[in-house]
Amino acid sequence: MVRLIVHGGAWNIPEEYHPAHVQGVRRAIETVYPRLKEGQSALDAVEAAVAMLEADPTFDAGRGAFLNERGEIELDALIMDGASLDFGAVAAVQNLLHPVSLARRIMEESEHCFLVGAGAQAFARSLGIPELKPEELLTERELEFYRAVRDDPHFKPHHPFQDGPRGTVGAAALDCAGNIAAATSTGGSPRKLPGRVGDTPVVGAGGYADNRLGGVSATGWGESIMKVLLSKTVCDLFHTHTAGEAARRGISILATRVQGMGGVVGIHKNGDYAVAHNTPKMAFAYAGEDGSIVAGIESRLRI
Ligand code: ASP
Repeated sequence: MVRLIVHGGAWNIPEEYHPAHVQGVRRAIETVYPRLKEGQSALDAVEAAVAMLEADPTFDAGRGAFLNERGEIELDALIMDGASLDFGAVAAVQNLLHPVSLARRIMEESEHCFLVGAGAQAFARSLGIPELKPEELLTERELEFYRAVRDDPHFKPHHPFQDGPRGTVGAAALDCAGNIAAATSTGGSPRKLPGRVGDTPVVGAGGYADNRLGGVSATGWGESIMKVLLSKTVCDLFHTHTAGEAARRGISILATRVQGMGGVVGIHKNGDYAVAHNTPKMAFAYAGEDGSIVAGIESRLRI
């Protein structure tokens, strides 16, 4: 039994963006799931799936990320190995197409778990990871959006954001050895303060994986997700609840305890998938046992 689920953000995705979102998440499953079936590790699978979504300008991760208040892109990412509970995280890195891969190398090749800003950048350089020019990550869409909101005194990066753009990406996988992994990557929130770090790279908030429970990747209003460690909360609920119930309860805790908004995708250690959100919509895709792919924009709470 192997499993792979991905998401492309939870927000009020306008209809004209639906095809690109569905195609993006579907392509990640189409490409990575067959490799997972052939024996790829869960860690390799979540890294590969998230890297594909980072390269896709549709999403707020890697290429296509939002600009911060200064008009710059700062990226956050997390990857976690459910076998060992090892994780790697980066925050506020610039000019990298694949922050998730840097997070993985921090996990595997440094003595640390989490590097930020200039230090993370220097570590990437020491590994020979290529840096792009800022304009190589920038899309016309985000530049236009930045120009539109830059001087708007009423614009808020976060809340209420039902209609504001989002598009973080994430994945969870279960491999044939029974190992579970999760990864999440984001450009954060639009017009965020420079140096702002959201939930995505915070272990237990933006993602969590534990072979004994399952794996989860979260997206949404980061300042609320961090407060309830949403991904860890859902993983803990896997212990006593079905996949769907755990995900819905996690979202309900987010909504009632901190008036938060967001969504999760997850895999229970028994192999069941979960998708839940309290945002108007969420983009997700997963693979069935027979290789069939379910991909879509969900517009209500579901499992
Ligand atoms: N959670 C991300 C953040 O707050 C944004 C998102 O998921 O859309 O940085």
